[in-house]
Amino acid sequence: MNAEAADCIFCKIIAGEIPSTKVSEDEDTYVFMDINPGTRGHALVIPKRHTTDLTTIGPADLTSVVLKAQEIAKRALSSLPADGVNLINCCGAAAWQTVFHFHLHVVPRYAEDGLAVPWKPGQGGDAEVIAAAAEALRG
Ligand code: 5GP
Ligand code: ZN
Repeated sequence: MNAEAADCIFCKIIAGEIPSTKVSEDEDTYVFMDINPGTRGHALVIPKRHTTDLTTIGPADLTSVVLKAQEIAKRALSSLPADGVNLINCCGAAAWQTVFHFHLHVVPRYAEDGLAVPWKPGQGGDAEVIAAAAEALRG
């Protein structure tokens, strides 16, 4: 593990050193609930291999993450159920990236949820709401 990965909170989440509400994981990806959701069911899809951002992720990991995000988005629509979904990636601090381990936000959208970017934490941030939404996303 390189120095950047050793300091990375998402690598610590994958390793179980920091708790998370996990939705699913496979060989290449890990999916968990955002601690400060923009809407109910807001999840993050990350590659297990540490990489900084959109410019550094390899093609195989990018493919795995996007396909996983598609799966979670479909489940958000069918199980939460959401009315729509935004996939969001922030690349660089100027684009609001705050955690420098590549991630795709899967943000379920609800008619008239009023979400605007950058979103303010708090919508759907209650621990019980997060746990119930994670269960719905597990399918
Ligand atoms: P970014 O701004 O880098 O695109 O998004 C980082 C996201 O990670 C934010 O939405 C933030 O709420 C989430 N986040 C930061 N630290 C933690 C954490 O320790 N646990 C979880 N579950 N999410 C986190
Ligand atoms: Zn990392």
